[in-house]
Amino acid sequence: MLNAADDALAARLPQGVLRDVTPAYLEEPRGRYLGRAGLVAAPRSTDEVAAVVRACAAARVGIVPRGGGTGLVAGQVMPEGPAPLILSLERMTALRAVFPEENVLVAEAGMTLQAARDAAQTAGRLFPLSLASQGTAAIGGCLATNAGGVTALRYGTARALCLGIEAVLPDGSVVHDLKRLRKDNTGYDIRDLLIGAEGSLGIITAASLKLVVPPPNIGTALLQVPGPDAALTLLSLAEGRMAGCVTAFELIGGQGLAFLAEVLPEIRQPLPGAEWSVLVEVGLPEGLPPEAALEGLLVDAMERGLVTDGLIAQSGAQAASFWQLREHIPEANRRIGAIASHDISLPLSEIAGFIRDADKQLAGEGLRINCFGHLGDGNLHYNLFPAPGRSRADYDLRRKALSDRVHSMVIARGGSFSAEHGVGRLKVGDLERWGDPARLAAMRAIKGTLDPLGIMNPGAVLSAPA
Ligand SMILES: Cc1cc2nc3c(=O)[nH]c(=O)nc-3n(C[C@H](O)[C@H](O)[C@H](O)COP(=O)(O)OP(=O)(O)OC[C@H]3O[C@@H](n4cnc5c(N)ncnc54)[C@H](O)[C@@H]3O)c2cc1C
Repeated sequence: MLNAADDALAARLPQGVLRDVTPAYLEEPRGRYLGRAGLVAAPRSTDEVAAVVRACAAARVGIVPRGGGTGLVAGQVMPEGPAPLILSLERMTALRAVFPEENVLVAEAGMTLQAARDAAQTAGRLFPLSLASQGTAAIGGCLATNAGGVTALRYGTARALCLGIEAVLPDGSVVHDLKRLRKDNTGYDIRDLLIGAEGSLGIITAASLKLVVPPPNIGTALLQVPGPDAALTLLSLAEGRMAGCVTAFELIGGQGLAFLAEVLPEIRQPLPGAEWSVLVEVGLPEGLPPEAALEGLLVDAMERGLVTDGLIAQSGAQAASFWQLREHIPEANRRIGAIASHDISLPLSEIAGFIRDADKQLAGEGLRINCFGHLGDGNLHYNLFPAPGRSRADYDLRRKALSDRVHSMVIARGGSFSAEHGVGRLKVGDLERWGDPARLAAMRAIKGTLDPLGIMNPGAVLSAPA
């Protein structure tokens, strides 16, 4: 049943864009927030997106853009305030063009990351952004959150992989900037402003994306290391030996393996019980067999005491099983139920000290800590879980204080409280607390100028004015 205001707005929308407000539009992966919505619209074209935005602006109704809904900081769900219109990009999934010789692909924002990767592969190219959520996460969502994932070490985050953008601004105007240029110094970069803005400045409707020639020789190894210090020295050794060809370097903590054994025992563990391990992937040019390159690294690292045991994948299936291990850690975490998750980044040289200090400081708190992540990018997921036999609810009163302690230690070492997931609604308070005041003032000025009515994803990234 629509109320009168939603009814009036619905009447101003393009024919056929409305969808039923089903629970799937109101949920987020961790189940901590339940969104609200007056209407759900799924436009079929950029013009229809613009028409929906103009209608919402006229009716002063907030808009929450939604891609795959896999965001982890509640940017895609609005649990409080006047019920918004959810603008889903689910029907804008077209591949507009591929230019293999230019290494460019142009896709609509609702295309899943997996579909974009598949389209690139069909053209003999690679779109290197890679996340465990890629079957559902959409290109628009990946750009809006500036997603990182497992290959950022080599190829950068989503921002580095975007050449141009088409977007609808809060007044309904359309920015046509789907350029395929690698050089274009023509003033303020609206593309870069919208990337990472989490839908708070406009709606991305399409993007031109940078492709690469896929490295022909992929090698994968799972290596047990004595600790984070050794892992970082190993990273430097690997980068030196592989000359820029390390694609991924993932840290796996022993607690993550224990969680997998507990809730996903079907996932095979090639190095069971390892307190610390790293998953290394290299992509080498023609003529350089990856097994031999990784073998050389393993021998060298063992001689230096950086690796205590290790396996080099001898087949694609074995490499996939290593990755399966890494990619199921978030699911195991979800099943155990975190008290607080921290998506942090640090300068590489601060990481080992941070892990040591944080583990020590939190040792008396009755927690299990699962520390893992994209070590090559300095990006850790430092997540806190209840002790065995206790529930998340037991920690409700301490949750914020625990997170503040973790974030204080990160900030003191020159790190970030949000490495790759964004700010969304979950971390608005953190941004206000830890953000640079001048930068925050500039962000508010940009928001106020582009979105004076405050309709674009209200309360995401920056708190909505009272
Ligand atoms: C299992 C799992 C693994 C993950 N691994 C990673 C990882 O390794 N690295 C990483 O960075 N993230 C990871 N994520 C988080 C998430 O997948 C990414 O943030 C992803 O980019 C979100 O894309 P989406 O389409 O699902 O966006 P949504 O969740 O739909 O939206 C996310 C934000 O972007 C906005 N938005 C969505 N579409 C648009 C658009 N077209 N225009 C403007 N704003 C828009 C939304 O309003 C919201 O604020 C993971 C999530 C899960 C569940």
